[in-house]
Amino acid sequence: MNLSPPITPEFLTLPRKAAADSAHMNLVGLSREAMKAALIAAGTPEAQAGMRVGQLWQWIYHRGARDFTGMTNLARAYRELLAEHFAIERPEIVTRQVSADGTRKYLLRIAGGHEIETVYIPETDRGTLCVSSQVGCTLTCSFCHTGTQRLVRNLTADEIVGQILVARDDLADWGRKPDEKRLVSNLVLMGMGEPLYNFDSVRDAMKIAMDSEGIALSRRRITLSTSGVVPEIARVGDEIGCLLAISFHATTDPVRDQLVPINRKWNIGELLDACRAYPRLSNAERITFEYVMLKGVNDSDADARRLVKLISGIPAKINLIPFNPWPGSPYERSDPERIEAFGNIVNRAGYASPVRTPRGEDIMAACGQLKSATERVRRARAS
Ligand code: SAH
Ligand code: SF4
Repeated sequence: MNLSPPITPEFLTLPRKAAADSAHMNLVGLSREAMKAALIAAGTPEAQAGMRVGQLWQWIYHRGARDFTGMTNLARAYRELLAEHFAIERPEIVTRQVSADGTRKYLLRIAGGHEIETVYIPETDRGTLCVSSQVGCTLTCSFCHTGTQRLVRNLTADEIVGQILVARDDLADWGRKPDEKRLVSNLVLMGMGEPLYNFDSVRDAMKIAMDSEGIALSRRRITLSTSGVVPEIARVGDEIGCLLAISFHATTDPVRDQLVPINRKWNIGELLDACRAYPRLSNAERITFEYVMLKGVNDSDADARRLVKLISGIPAKINLIPFNPWPGSPYERSDPERIEAFGNIVNRAGYASPVRTPRGEDIMAACGQLKSATERVRRARAS
């Protein structure tokens, strides 16, 4: 099946920069405490270290600084001391593709030569960055292309935060006043990987994303999506406090066992119990249930009715995602009329049920397609 419309996306190969010097510790991604300890170890007087962390965070996360030379509120001798010990590094852009609809996909290289993808989706009222949490995924959801790529490793906090820095560099999104419109206004942990199998790094990165001296995004502008790692869901509410999305996709255990195999470990009942216990649920803070529309598999009227019954009592919105095919995928996208009929049933039960318009299809940036372009690039490079 060929998804690509007859348009040529802008395809850039950007110059590679020199590999990071491992003698210099990367300040990106360090918690306040860790940075404070590192600054003291490098010779910063203890009494000043807390203030220095605040200054450095503002340079790195508000202004987009990439080195210490421009940090004019720090004495020259101190900037030199910092430069001796530290660096401000982000992942290296290998390629950047811009879709006809404005979606941007970055292929980034991280330590060890691994590659990840990050997608920026501009909309009229917001700009959403879709961030990866792992290289590949250990789970094997049968409709997801990322699931066919075995896990290589978890990302570190600096690699997760670094994806935000790279996008803001590319979009010239630095130095905006608090009331000014920002191009990266929302984050979704919906890229490659299962964020709840990399909880600590995701939490540490999101703490920086939410900190007023960090990226300074409200916790309500961040959504973490999980396929259903039930024991970690409560921790998302307690330790991160962002919004939650669940990759639900089926209304009976036998079907969900097939589509989202983690269901064999924690079934629909257990997953929904964890959702009901999620803190601060209200109409303003709803859980998003993602539901991929697969022709003849999970898209009947009976499924829609079961779905609303299952989630009853949970403040929720249902995101209907038309299946995005990939080479060799065993499913087909439901017909638009079927998606509409399904959405109407959900809607009549009182739940918003927006159909997610596929974005960036021409550059394989849509949900569940991350990996393919990476592979394509690898093949192209090899030939
Ligand atoms: N691993 C996490 C985060 C990824 S989010 C999770 O599964 O929740 C990516 C979203 O896109 C998930 O809801 C996923 O189920 C969905 N998705 C995966 N493959 C897809 C495809 N081919 N078409 C449409 N949606 C897909
Ligand atoms: Fe992994 Fe999410 Fe894809 Fe499932 S849908 S294989 S959990 S990335």
